[in-house]
Amino acid sequence: MKVYFLGTGTSQGIPVIGSDHPVCKSTDSKDKRLRVSVLIRWDNYSYVIDCGPDFRQQMLASDCQKVDGIIFTHEHADHTAGLDDIRPFNYKQGEMPIYAHKRVLEDMQSRFGYVFETVNKYPGAPSVKTIEIVNNEPFSIGNKLVIPVDVLHGNLQVFGYRIDDFAYLTDVKTIEDVEIEKLRNLKVLVVNALREEHHFSHFNLQEALDFIALVKPEKAYLTHISHILGFHEEVQKRLPENVFLAYDNLEITL
Ligand SMILES: [Zn+2]
Repeated sequence: MKVYFLGTGTSQGIPVIGSDHPVCKSTDSKDKRLRVSVLIRWDNYSYVIDCGPDFRQQMLASDCQKVDGIIFTHEHADHTAGLDDIRPFNYKQGEMPIYAHKRVLEDMQSRFGYVFETVNKYPGAPSVKTIEIVNNEPFSIGNKLVIPVDVLHGNLQVFGYRIDDFAYLTDVKTIEDVEIEKLRNLKVLVVNALREEHHFSHFNLQEALDFIALVKPEKAYLTHISHILGFHEEVQKRLPENVFLAYDNLEITL
C-alpha cells in the first residue's frame, strides 16, 4: 500500500493569501502546503481521504487516473470544498462513492444541493453514491477493511481511519481511551500538528508528540500544518527520530 500526501496544510494552505510571513515567502517546496488530503493506493485500487478546495490541483500533481471512492473525515470546507471537481472521474467511471458520517452526508447535501438534486438535475453536475460510516462498524473499500476511529475536533465529531497497520487522523483535539485502543501496533500513524501554540480544536506540536508517544507507532507523520509552526527544515530537526513532518507530494510505502 502506498500513501501519497496530496496536501499537508491547515485550512488556509501555505502560503496564506497576502501573507508576508517568512514561511509563506519560503522558496523551499516543502514549505508549500495545499489543504490536507491523502491518496491511498494498493493493487489496482485508489481512494482519497477528504476532498478540499485544492482537489483538482492535487489530482493533477499526483497524476491520479482513477478514484474508487472518497472517504470524508468531517464537513469543514478545507475537507469538502473540492467536491465539484470529481466530474472528470464521473465522466470516466460513473457515480463516485463517498463515505462519511450521516451528519457529514447531510451537511454536504446542503452545501452542494445541486449534486444531490433528484429532479431536473443539471446534466454534467457531479454524481455521488453515499455510504454512511458508523463508529465501531468497519467497512470495506476494495479488498481492505477500514476501521473508523472516533475523535473530537473541539466539540465536533470527526472520523479518523485505520487501514491495516496505517492510521490517518486529522483535526484531532481529544480522543477517548477506547478509541486509542484501535491504534495499537501501527507501522505508520499520520496525525495533525497545527503549531506550537495552543489551539481550541487542533493538537499543537507538543500534544501531537505526546499522543505519538502514547500510541507508539513505528513511524509518525505530522500534517494539517500552519505556516506559524515554522520552516519545514528547522521543525524537522527538532522532532524525535521516528517522527517526520509530512510534506506535499511525499509518498510512503507500507
Ligand atoms: Zn481541517
